[in-house]
Amino acid sequence: MNTKSRHRGSVILVFLVLVTALAAAIWHYGYRQALDQLARRGEADLELASDRLSTQLQVYQELAVLMARHPVMVGLADSKALGAARALLLEVADTTAAFDVMYVDRTGRVLASARGLLGPNLSDASYFRRAMQGALGRDHGFLQPGGVRAYTYGAPAFGADGKVQGALIVVAGIEDIESDWRGSNPVVLFTDQDGIVFISNRSELLYPNQPGWDRITSRKVGRHQVLDIDLGPYLPRRALHLTRDLAVLDLVGEVLVDVAPARRLAMLQVATVLAICLAFGAILNLVAERRRVLAEANAVLESRVVARTRDLSDANAALQQAQADLVQAGKLSALGQMSAGISHELNQPLMAIRSYAENGAKFLERGQRDMAAGNIAKISELARRMGRIIKNLRAFARNEAEPMGKVDLVQVINAAVELTQARLRADAVSLDWVPDTDPVHAWGGDVRLVQVFVNLINNAADAMMDQEDRFIRIILNNSKPDLTVTVRDVGPGIKEPERIFEPFYSTKTVDSSEGMGLGLSISYGLVQSFGGNIRGENGPDGGAMFTVELEYWRAASDKAAA
Ligand code: ADP
Repeated sequence: MNTKSRHRGSVILVFLVLVTALAAAIWHYGYRQALDQLARRGEADLELASDRLSTQLQVYQELAVLMARHPVMVGLADSKALGAARALLLEVADTTAAFDVMYVDRTGRVLASARGLLGPNLSDASYFRRAMQGALGRDHGFLQPGGVRAYTYGAPAFGADGKVQGALIVVAGIEDIESDWRGSNPVVLFTDQDGIVFISNRSELLYPNQPGWDRITSRKVGRHQVLDIDLGPYLPRRALHLTRDLAVLDLVGEVLVDVAPARRLAMLQVATVLAICLAFGAILNLVAERRRVLAEANAVLESRVVARTRDLSDANAALQQAQADLVQAGKLSALGQMSAGISHELNQPLMAIRSYAENGAKFLERGQRDMAAGNIAKISELARRMGRIIKNLRAFARNEAEPMGKVDLVQVINAAVELTQARLRADAVSLDWVPDTDPVHAWGGDVRLVQVFVNLINNAADAMMDQEDRFIRIILNNSKPDLTVTVRDVGPGIKEPERIFEPFYSTKTVDSSEGMGLGLSISYGLVQSFGGNIRGENGPDGGAMFTVELEYWRAASDKAAA
């Protein structure tokens, strides 16, 4: 594993840790929010259930109060009315669905009863004692035998003297009340001070000694209490527990709201955020991956460019070497063409020197010293001329890199004329060249420029070999800003002017040993390298016309100013 992929691995790890932390936070917050909402609904439900229970029991309370004032009950002290009272109580019990209704005297003895389920003496009951104090008594409990749950009211019955003379007791059966709302949602229960479930819409909760009760565990989620319950399919497994005091009934109302919807909601939120995060992460990862691939491709490309550039500069160096070789080949070829002329050129003064020397010796023998001195002066002059020719040849043939710089164009053309002079004389070609007395400074290389003009002169001479009339004119035009040299002949003209600078293009026959087709293309390259140009065209009145354009030489300071 390299550092890059290790780096990516740790980035992904950090991302996953962050996402997990975010998910946990969202779960935490979302679950609590949803519980808050459930709690609000649960509280409303509990309030509704409590109200309903109160209202239902209220009926019996009011019944007790009203019946206590009934004249039949008030007159019960004398037992004549007993029969009528019992009939009335039964009727009332039937119409109100009360479990039992009865009248007791001050000692707690039951005087009359609708169904005779309680009694015979209720002096120990708390609701009785309370009624005897002149207040409304109430109590709940399990009637024996049978353990029927009942809520009991005791209302005082006042005599004409305003004193309590007995009490009217109404017993309400809880099961009847409960039957309406059994199974409804949410789970509601009412417990007494001892924590015993007295009323509930789930019968499972009414028998606290059944298995499962002891496994109910409670824990806090935020400010909410959540219970884990295992009491069968009709109770939630996990429930929000809310309570509410019902002082009027001496009970505590409780509600158990299933938290599954809250958990689902929170889960959904977490899943949504997770999905978004992961999608985002995946996109980021993809983008990073693409960038990495691109960077890699770039690096490969760059290394290729570097390699190509190296190859190219190698090739360039090879090309330059080849060009240099060609230049040299061109020079040697020109020398070959001129060799006959040159040997003639050197032979002639050599012969002359010989005869001057012989004559000089004879003059000395005869004592004609002046004549001898004249001969020696001529010999010296001829030797100087030969030296000049040899110097030109050596410079021309030398194969070495020549620096570019200031070149006197007049001297260059003089040298080219001198080099070709012998050949032109041999072929009876006349040349018109009037050199300027002042130097004309061009930018270039001496030897290479000489080579260019030697080539142009030789080409012109070659072109005119098949005709009697052979004439070349060289014109130097230095009227600024132009700097051109024109070489014209009176030959047949150029056959294909657009092809003459192509390498190996030649119209000269092979056996004439001249045509390599390189002369002009080499010249072209040389002149270009001096920042100049060379053109070949046919003159208006026949013959070929080659124009070499060059740049004036300028001192470095001039150049900088330009
Ligand atoms: P080469 O002299 O070996 O043929 P060059 O490159 O010097 O090669 O010349 C190419 C061709 O250009 C010649 O073969 C000839 O056809 C043409 N050419 C050059 N100079 C002249 C000229 N003065 N007149 C007519 N044709 C010319």
